[in-house]
Amino acid sequence: MFRERGIELKTPGQIRAMRVAGLLVGQTLELLRDAVRPGVTTADLDALAEDNIRSGGGTPSFLGYGVPPFPASICASVNDAVVHGIPGSRVLQEGDVISIDCGAIVDGWHGDAAITVTVGEVSPEVTTLMRVTEESLWRGMAAAKLGGRVSDISHAVESWVRSEGAYGILEDYVGHGIGSAMHQPPNVPNIGRPGRGPKLVRGLALAVEPMVTLGTSETRVADDEWTVVTADGSWAAHFEHTFTVMPEGAWVLTAVDGGRTKLTELGVPFGGE
Ligand code: MG
Ligand code: MG
Repeated sequence: MFRERGIELKTPGQIRAMRVAGLLVGQTLELLRDAVRPGVTTADLDALAEDNIRSGGGTPSFLGYGVPPFPASICASVNDAVVHGIPGSRVLQEGDVISIDCGAIVDGWHGDAAITVTVGEVSPEVTTLMRVTEESLWRGMAAAKLGGRVSDISHAVESWVRSEGAYGILEDYVGHGIGSAMHQPPNVPNIGRPGRGPKLVRGLALAVEPMVTLGTSETRVADDEWTVVTADGSWAAHFEHTFTVMPEGAWVLTAVDGGRTKLTELGVPFGGE
């Protein structure tokens, strides 16, 4: 079913199908989190992810995506790379930080999520950046109420990050609708005033993904035509979940526990199964 501006609204059965894809993505990211350590290459992580997605009955949605075709199953973005890093021979070093973005398709339905992980010990400012970014993602999802507007999420993300310090919030890259395709309308920016954009209605699924830096919000694309790096070399964090708002409450389709723990902590009703 499609409504205003090409927005795809899912039936309850389709949302359940999206949960299958989301859970596979969430479990894959937990596997990768455990695998991150000094000496591991980003290609090693990519191989692990592809194997886990395929053995779980899914297809990696990033592989072959876009122009030029993305050559891997995850994005692996290290240090000053924010998003869209191409996995390869780079060996992770103690003190690095890596953002891993992962997408899978199961039975035609998509899940999309990302985490930032430390490699051994990192500086306290990087740890704080990660905590602020992840919390802004949850605050954004927590602000989504049926009958509200998409920019309520944007506003909550931005407000949280700004309240925590002088960080850069990417504006050129945004969250998105998701369902039978990975990227659908509407856009979900990480900044903005509340009460704007499409209405939050039942059956809408969104990928919320704050990208936050220790410096500027300006970026450039590297020579590989994919990797997005900060213009000033500052380090970055990226957290993402695919979620929906059920009549009973929110359901984080890519969180292994459906978001129950964190949503409850934030006082948001859990609407998952
Ligand atoms: Mg993603
Ligand atoms: Mg996404």
